[in-house]
Amino acid sequence: HEFCKRLPKIELHAHLNGSIREETLVELARERGVELPPEFHDGFHTNRDPSQFLNSKPRSLVDCFHIFSFIPKCVSDVAALERITREALEDAADENICYIELRTGPKILFHHEGEVCTKEDYLGTIIRVMESFERRELNRYEAIDRRIKSKTVEEAYENVDLAIELKASGCKQIVGVELGGDPTKNDFGEHFLPVFSKARRHGLPISIHCGEVPMARESRDRPDLVRAHEEALSILKFGPERLGHSLLISEDLGVMLDDLLIPVEVCPTSNVLTLELANHEEGCLLKGIQNHPQLRKWLDSKYPISLNTDDAGIFATTLTREYALVAKAFHLSKIDLSNMLIDSVETIFDPGKEKLKQAITTRVNMMLGP
Ligand code: 5GP
Repeated sequence: HEFCKRLPKIELHAHLNGSIREETLVELARERGVELPPEFHDGFHTNRDPSQFLNSKPRSLVDCFHIFSFIPKCVSDVAALERITREALEDAADENICYIELRTGPKILFHHEGEVCTKEDYLGTIIRVMESFERRELNRYEAIDRRIKSKTVEEAYENVDLAIELKASGCKQIVGVELGGDPTKNDFGEHFLPVFSKARRHGLPISIHCGEVPMARESRDRPDLVRAHEEALSILKFGPERLGHSLLISEDLGVMLDDLLIPVEVCPTSNVLTLELANHEEGCLLKGIQNHPQLRKWLDSKYPISLNTDDAGIFATTLTREYALVAKAFHLSKIDLSNMLIDSVETIFDPGKEKLKQAITTRVNMMLGP
């Protein structure tokens, strides 16, 4: 754990609202009169010590999306947005994360005086917090970046246009766009392909959540499985720069992926909880991670992956814990773990990857000694 904590890590898959601290969410809910759902209380630990976790059940994808719907009700104004952004960056700095890509869907909020805060202001607020943090923590942060996420089709165009505009105006914090949200809603090929093609034409790297729900190439009585397969196929054909999760991809798509070698953002705790392979108890979590549908194969074949938290607040985890769990589950040595980290720097969206890779390699070599 100590070694994993000291490692100069990178976080490439962290949803801003999902990274909210538990105590912040509870406090904001109280202030704004929002009643949090029973799944939230059931699933939450009383403090940052994971052994104190109250939940004995996995937190399924459906539970997660239910909880997610309450967070914007609590993060409803600019002050709250500033707070969760600052806290996410502080938590990352405490974790020795030297590069983070925070992803979020721009939302319409309110200023304290009741004035509307547009999507541009939403992004502007986050960027301002990032800039002030970078100045303060210059030695710890190579770069702090964020990405815009898309929901419905019209919003997707709006968000991608915003990202294009900001990038064109020289904003260094916008490094790419992603597609996330409830995987049972809309379809990549049918609804989002033109939007992401536009982002690509404007030089924005793309990450797409993939393989979060079961799929099958053929099924007589489960058209949903076939649809999920077709969607994943159209995502792979599009060839985003990175994929999120990619847990339940069918065998034929797995073969295709082995050829394409699209880097995958792995979020171990999130993956095994949402797949209901484990609960939060450490022994169970470890077994769940050993039974992760893809991770062992990816580690053995040195497939390009990165380790991430997904929603540190919702899954009550830290990046240090994710590294430690994977190392323990698969008996990885310090050198194995370090090599995986250094290789994952290849997959960042910021153009300064060579410099970052060099800086991390130097620090890791100092930690490993002669
Ligand atoms: P936000 O964009 O509001 O800052 O971050 C929270 C949102 O990220 C959630 O409402 C949800 O749409 C999305 N999200 C968080 N975790 C996951 C995940 O594991 N899978 C998918 N598909 N979306 C997620």
